[in-house]
Amino acid sequence: MSSAEDQHRRNAALRELPGVDTASGWPELAGVPPRARLQALRELLDQVRTELLHGSRADCPGRAELVERLLRQFQVLVTPSLRPVINATGVLLHTNLGRAPLPESAIEAVRAAAGNTNLEYDLDLGTRGGRGSGVNQLLCTLSGAPAALVVNNCAAAVLLCISTLAAGKEVIVSRGELVEIGGSFRIPEVVTQGGARLREVGTTNRTHLRDYAAAIGADTAGILKVHASNFQVVGFTHEVSVAELVELARQRSESEGRKLFVLEDLGSASFLPLSVDGAIRTPTPLDSLSVGADLVCFSGDKLIGGPQAGLILGSSEAVGAARRHPFYRALRPGKLTLAALEATLRHHLDPSGREHLPLHAAISRTVESLTARAERLLEALAGAEGVTLERVPTDATIGGGSIPGQRVPSVAVRLRFHEREASEAAAELRRGPRPVVGRVKDGALWLDLRTVHPDADDALAAVLRGLLWGAS
Ligand SMILES: *Cc1c(COP(=O)(O)O)cnc(C)c1O
Repeated sequence: MSSAEDQHRRNAALRELPGVDTASGWPELAGVPPRARLQALRELLDQVRTELLHGSRADCPGRAELVERLLRQFQVLVTPSLRPVINATGVLLHTNLGRAPLPESAIEAVRAAAGNTNLEYDLDLGTRGGRGSGVNQLLCTLSGAPAALVVNNCAAAVLLCISTLAAGKEVIVSRGELVEIGGSFRIPEVVTQGGARLREVGTTNRTHLRDYAAAIGADTAGILKVHASNFQVVGFTHEVSVAELVELARQRSESEGRKLFVLEDLGSASFLPLSVDGAIRTPTPLDSLSVGADLVCFSGDKLIGGPQAGLILGSSEAVGAARRHPFYRALRPGKLTLAALEATLRHHLDPSGREHLPLHAAISRTVESLTARAERLLEALAGAEGVTLERVPTDATIGGGSIPGQRVPSVAVRLRFHEREASEAAAELRRGPRPVVGRVKDGALWLDLRTVHPDADDALAAVLRGLLWGAS
């Protein structure tokens, strides 16, 4: 066909395309709510026009095709966008996969709090009560801190603390701790956004007490110490402990007749050890609080194993000031978060609570149990062609910027495809109705079983049968 004829045909096809108003009246689309129908039709007809104009199709699609495509588009709209995912990445606290899975008790608590609840209501007195007072009490009991406050996440906690304690003044931070956590959480920017000025001291690898001491001036509000969450500085290094910083702040507060604060951004911390044998050193807020830090901040969905939240612990004075700050209103958590957090924290009261926390349960799984599960999975997939399936030792990581460098021995099922890219198979697993996220490494697809809940093993086997045999 000549290009002129081709053009003519396309123009005819464009003219044939029904208008939004016409198509909207088709009875086949009556089941789609009007607003969604109009929006989806506009998008669909735009798409078809583009296809015709750019030459990826030459004829006007028939009514049946348009209806089918529109119904498919509508299906996407009404399918929940947040879906359960099988985490086979080997990263226990995977930020992109929602970090810590909640304990059953927290899921129940969320359900119970979903209707009307005494969020800020004192049922004894019949008057207004304090939001989060139950969680705060639990946090004080667990930590021995005089006061506690919960906000939306740890980033919000640090921002609120800086803004409360240091707006218009200077905050001293070691150059070794001017970190970026991920996303856009960068300590220098958080300090600035909190209305304070950053005073950097020391060097990337070594900062000494004398560096802090020399930096304290008339404008200094306090010192911020930040946990290096997602990297390690090794070799010729030195950092100053919180205890030393607290002592320095105390001395200078006395000699200068004003209070200098010490704030620690722990990022992740827990009241329970991650491993019973102590093989994994778990940061705890108690260390900083016992030596006298004014405030410590950490996340609710990292080593605590609960919902996204920022926990602030410290002196009544500092926590009270944060609670009264106008930012608190903007950063406070909702009732669902508080309900889930309270239920999660209750498991931290007793070491036996570990078994109820999915994060802790995942870390406690023995390599033997993971091996047995991998063998069962391989049995379920026996006879698959075009792929070499193997059980291989691997290392899981804690993730979530919690304990960098900490590896947890694990077991993976490795799929090496003979005539297919591993990344393509990984994409197929992600896009399925029961998404599985694995890891592509050395040209193979690795499914780490430590991060897969044993209850999901059957579902995982079914998904893999679908991948390998083309049907589930
Ligand atoms: C993870 C982390 C944060 C951010 O915590 P979110 O709860 O994700 O906001 C802040 N500081 C440190 C040191 C962290 O590790």
